[in-house]
Amino acid sequence: MNREMLTRDIYGNIDSVSKVIFYILSAAALACCAAGIWHHVRRWRREGRPFGSPSSPAFDWKGIFSRFWTRVLSQTALRRGRVGAGWMHSLLFWGFAVLFLGTVLVSTEYYAATLLGRTAGDPLFHKGLYFAIFECVLDLAGLALIAGIVWFAIRRARGTSSMAHQGSDWLVIGLLISLGITGYCLEGGRIVLEQTPAPALSPVGYVCSLPIAAADPGPAVVGRMHRTFWWIHALLALGLVAIFPYSRLLHALAGTVRLMATPRALGSMEPISIEQVELAGFIGVDRLEHLTCLQRIELHACVACGRCQDVCPAHIAKKPLSPRDVVQDLRFQLDQWTRSADTNTDPGAVSQQSLCGAVIADETLWACTTCGACEDICPLDVGPLTFITDMRRFFVGDGRFRGAPAAALARMQRSGNPWGLPAEDRLNWAQDLDIRTAADGGDSDLLYWVGCAAAYDPNCQRIARSMVRLLQRANVPFTVLGNEERCTGDSARRMGDEFVFQELATRNIETLHRYGIKKIVTHCPHCLNSLRNDYPQFGGLFDVVHHSELLLDLIETGRLPIDGSDLFNHSAAIRATYHDPCYLARIQRISQPPRQVLDHLLTHGHLSERIEMARHGRETACCGGGGGRMWFDDTPSDRIGIDRFDEVVATGADTVAVGCPFCKIMFHDAASDRGSSIQVRDIAELLAEKILQ
Ligand code: SF4
Ligand code: SF4
Repeated sequence: MNREMLTRDIYGNIDSVSKVIFYILSAAALACCAAGIWHHVRRWRREGRPFGSPSSPAFDWKGIFSRFWTRVLSQTALRRGRVGAGWMHSLLFWGFAVLFLGTVLVSTEYYAATLLGRTAGDPLFHKGLYFAIFECVLDLAGLALIAGIVWFAIRRARGTSSMAHQGSDWLVIGLLISLGITGYCLEGGRIVLEQTPAPALSPVGYVCSLPIAAADPGPAVVGRMHRTFWWIHALLALGLVAIFPYSRLLHALAGTVRLMATPRALGSMEPISIEQVELAGFIGVDRLEHLTCLQRIELHACVACGRCQDVCPAHIAKKPLSPRDVVQDLRFQLDQWTRSADTNTDPGAVSQQSLCGAVIADETLWACTTCGACEDICPLDVGPLTFITDMRRFFVGDGRFRGAPAAALARMQRSGNPWGLPAEDRLNWAQDLDIRTAADGGDSDLLYWVGCAAAYDPNCQRIARSMVRLLQRANVPFTVLGNEERCTGDSARRMGDEFVFQELATRNIETLHRYGIKKIVTHCPHCLNSLRNDYPQFGGLFDVVHHSELLLDLIETGRLPIDGSDLFNHSAAIRATYHDPCYLARIQRISQPPRQVLDHLLTHGHLSERIEMARHGRETACCGGGGGRMWFDDTPSDRIGIDRFDEVVATGADTVAVGCPFCKIMFHDAASDRGSSIQVRDIAELLAEKILQ
């Protein structure tokens, strides 16, 4: 066949009356879709809170397009954790995207050719090799769409996932499956009517044509069948267009916008100035109007897939918190607001409803450990944690915060540490160690940031003592701030008290600047995150490393030599597992250096085995001590991280190595509660024990 003859009449077998009706219905469906989107866009664009992110951020077009390729089209985030569901969603997405693009191309061909006065047999570009590829690709895209959507239908019917269902989901699933099937029936009819050259170009359509051809009902009946399929297919497609903004499908638009916008930096929080709060008369989020435009878009991007709920340590520990439900409850409010505006019922009443306490329960807000697992796993970059911390800010600012954690906040403000102990006692742990404070002077540009836990908690003081002995052994000059150090304010900020945090942060920054400190090492991932992510917002720019990174460097450059041990053959050999702290592995993406330190001990026979837990690295599980949860007076067995401790025990290890004082405290309490003999050691303690004998 002449390649140029490879084409087909786009409206073959469709009469002009049908075409006119189709155009009228298309206009109605598009109008319905546009009206729905417009209502949402109006809510999204409504003036947000009077502080925080700049109202008109600079557009970084290059970044936006690059994120469109890497985050939207690639769909990689969807395949993390749920590989099967991720691939099926990718098939569905790619299949739908190709079919949509095909429809746009066909329409472009038809209207351009009509404008240029061409006839049906004389297409502009819908012919030849392009046509052959077009037919084949669209035929396979339909198969991808059907495979993806059928898989989703089965999952929903079985109810095996933590995805939340709503009635309209079945409508969308039904429409998409029917759309795919009628598309193939239509193609089959077209092949029998001999309107499609080279049927092999549409293998699935060709298979569908076989039963029609075998029945041989005659051209008139096949023509009627083809027109009927054409109409069903067209009505299904238009129905899908019409319901787009009113169903779960809206996530395709809102999610794309969210993913193309600047990604959220895990572990960082928006700074708010006292002037902004004085001007607004409040802090944080308590009403829909206080959400930013992007946060409202996030509410519509959320598909209630439940991935965040599956990884939430508070949810797993049966606390009254599901990050999925937090987002969905806020979304419900947003939809009510949109609906009330549409029906002219009092939209102000809905938008002004209090969210803290009324929509999101107090216990829900305070169950969060700010571990970041929900935001890290979300394939659409929705931020349940950010909603929670924003509402905590309002809650605390409104004076509603009570009990033990509120007392810890008061101690931070009064004494500069959550233990409420005097600043003069900060160096008590180091009385017999020959260390210099920054005030003593010295030629070192390295500061060891000790943090409150290692300064005051007897169990954690061993971390600081080990660290000091290791630095001294390696001849690394360093200083500490001593009684001039204050809590970084990490817990205060994550608990929602921005002003206690800012007081502590500005004081620490001023002290660090006064001594010209540029480089800091700390064993505490919470201090590390605050120094790296929070302090630059207030002019505190320092080069901060975790102690595991520095210790690894000292080992690998030979400054901390590890001698061989005969313990490997000894009955007392240590079987260790390493627990990744959330703020280190997930938020700061530091998971290898602590393991490498342990592996050096293993290589030299100081450990007999290093066992890896199933949930490790970025996928680690929380010990339960972050986000201020450390200061709640739960009993150990009621604490969020107790399940994680049980995972540690299940490895059969006799020692759990950690890289965070909070994890050490939480696991130590859990071990006592469970009556376990497992040893909880920071990696610096293990290293010092083994090489400084
Ligand atoms: S927030 Fe993200 S992960 Fe959680 S349910 Fe919504 S889309 Fe899924
Ligand atoms: S930050 Fe952690 S504890 Fe808080 S909602 Fe997210 S997953 Fe749950």
